[in-house]
Amino acid sequence: MNRLWRFAGGLRLAGHKRESVMGGVRQLPTPKRVVLPLQQHVGAPAEPVVQVGQTVCKGELLARAESFVSAPVHASVSGTVVAIDNYAVPHPSGIAEPCVVIESDGEERWWPDLKTPSDPATQSAEKLRELIRAAGVVGLGGAVFPSAAKLGPPRPVDTLVINGVECEPYITCDDTLMRSRPDDVVRGSAVLRRIVAAQRCLIAVEDNKPEALARLRAVLATLAGELDVSGIEVVSVPTVFPTGGEKQLIKVLTGREVPVGGLPYEVGCVCLNVGTAAAVHDAVYTGRPLLSRLVTVTGPGVRHPDNFEVPLGTSVSDLLAAAGGVTTDAPELIMGGPMMGFSLPGEHLPITKASNCILVRTDSASKPAMPCIRCGSCASACPMQLLPQQLYWHARGREFDKLTRYHLNSCIECGCCNAVCPSHIPLVDYFRFAKSEIADQAYKRERANESRIRNQQRTERLEAARRAAEERKAKRKAGRKRAAEPAPDAAASAVREAS
Ligand code: SF4
Ligand code: SF4
Repeated sequence: MNRLWRFAGGLRLAGHKRESVMGGVRQLPTPKRVVLPLQQHVGAPAEPVVQVGQTVCKGELLARAESFVSAPVHASVSGTVVAIDNYAVPHPSGIAEPCVVIESDGEERWWPDLKTPSDPATQSAEKLRELIRAAGVVGLGGAVFPSAAKLGPPRPVDTLVINGVECEPYITCDDTLMRSRPDDVVRGSAVLRRIVAAQRCLIAVEDNKPEALARLRAVLATLAGELDVSGIEVVSVPTVFPTGGEKQLIKVLTGREVPVGGLPYEVGCVCLNVGTAAAVHDAVYTGRPLLSRLVTVTGPGVRHPDNFEVPLGTSVSDLLAAAGGVTTDAPELIMGGPMMGFSLPGEHLPITKASNCILVRTDSASKPAMPCIRCGSCASACPMQLLPQQLYWHARGREFDKLTRYHLNSCIECGCCNAVCPSHIPLVDYFRFAKSEIADQAYKRERANESRIRNQQRTERLEAARRAAEERKAKRKAGRKRAAEPAPDAAASAVREAS
């Protein structure tokens, strides 16, 4: 039995899980239209390989990953590509990004070239990584980092962590997945363990999910005769927010601290979400790309909270309609949970690989902010051991260099400081604003630096051309001078004649 540790800070929150977890998985009807962003992941956007007017099948490649940290995008429905253009995507900034739009023909025709791969047990780690990459699998816990990039090149790790800790209130899609597809989660975890060659694999689930824990353990026992599941353990962890954070979970399971600015492999760990493990199962056992995901629709403002299997690119409005619609004229829509989610400007936005929950509130949770009383509660709650009140002062004063000194980049935007602040200061909003300003300034500095280098190179090129022209001119002049001088023999005879 795996020993457990504690991380600093954290909160015990009201779960609000029962509202949405009881119904199992509901299939969404095929949407009439899907909007598929070319960047649903961390890294470079995928490059489109289809054209407007082209007929596509479900599972067909729409956009190819051209760089190592990127992921391809596939058609989630069959139909016709009607646009490749900028559309609003779910992002706190409300930014518009390139998307492929498909009008569905409602026929659900699968791409005929999808092939079932050979038995994963006979495949090399490299081949398995290729299958995962080709299927467009990314971290489905919210990080959306391309999984193939996370799994390679191989680094020495001893512990694979499969994260089934769904610690945000209201969200139940991972719990539902573990209850409905425990077999696929365990098989996917076994494949991942082979790829990273870890001695042990810990599937971590919070102790408020007894059914998921029981089903995973039962499946593990059943598969023992068929798969190599030695070293795989299902671990129950205490329900404390944010245990689902990668660094917090590694601390709880191994006692190891991922260094500031560091990555889990530096302490011998790799961490992936249970949804990612199931998507890896689909990629290596069935050859199917990532075309849909489980999304929780919940909150006091929706009629029938539930978990839905949603084709990627489906609009939030279609999803809300399937959940019986909203109960108020002015709902507040949050993508994600109440702690780490962000407000959506409308229902027209598409569900992407990152969308785990649509939370519908009937009124805004924010209360008027008052001055900081320096109580220190935010620092006690911070799981990253930061000083949120200091970060707040410097973010407010736009002193971005000081924010770096106070490790703003280590802030995981968990919202614990917000939740405990008696002055109701929207601390995380300040941190997000400061991070985007710092990123913007860094971007502008980089562009300015590139312009300076290009200008310098141009000046050097012009100077070199000027010098070359001068040298040519000097050579021509010297040539003309030599031509004008009499030949040495002629000069000698002229001297003789004169004497
Ligand atoms: S919890 Fe709020 S009031 Fe207290 S120190 Fe932090 S920011 Fe200030
Ligand atoms: S949001 Fe950032 S500063 Fe606030 S508690 Fe979480 S990690 Fe700490």
